[in-house]
Amino acid sequence: MAEEIFNFVEESKDEHWCLVCNNYTDYRRKWTTVPRADLDGGVYSDNFEVPHCIHCDSMMLNLNDCKRLVWLIRLSVFIFLTVATSVCFYLYDPSIKTFGVWIGLVGLSALVGKLPRKSKQAVKAAHRYAKQQKLHVAQKILNVEEVNKII
Ligand SMILES: [Zn+2]
Repeated sequence: MAEEIFNFVEESKDEHWCLVCNNYTDYRRKWTTVPRADLDGGVYSDNFEVPHCIHCDSMMLNLNDCKRLVWLIRLSVFIFLTVATSVCFYLYDPSIKTFGVWIGLVGLSALVGKLPRKSKQAVKAAHRYAKQQKLHVAQKILNVEEVNKII
């Protein structure tokens, strides 16, 4: 009976990206301690592991967390802009004053949208790396086909 049970749920794979090496490099985990506030008003130290690149010894980023953060910031900015636009142009009469406030809110949301700079940089670099890998595989396939044509 136990042999008939299959696990169809894929385990989430942690992908760590090094921003300095711009690659999925090997890493080693180092312990880091951060002081946290206690509910009783005290302070306790929280220990957790952080992956560090073997080649450059810099802290690596978890790509899944970066993608989630970028997506969450984009969604928050979209909702904020929608609400700001509705408030400025539907609740109040259109005027230069409301238009100026709306421009200020758009500028604020643009600044907030740029906040997760490292996460955006890691996601873009990993996407570019995946495209280069696909292109490299395609070039290998084309080279094999060209060799087969010659033979
Ligand atoms: Zn590195």
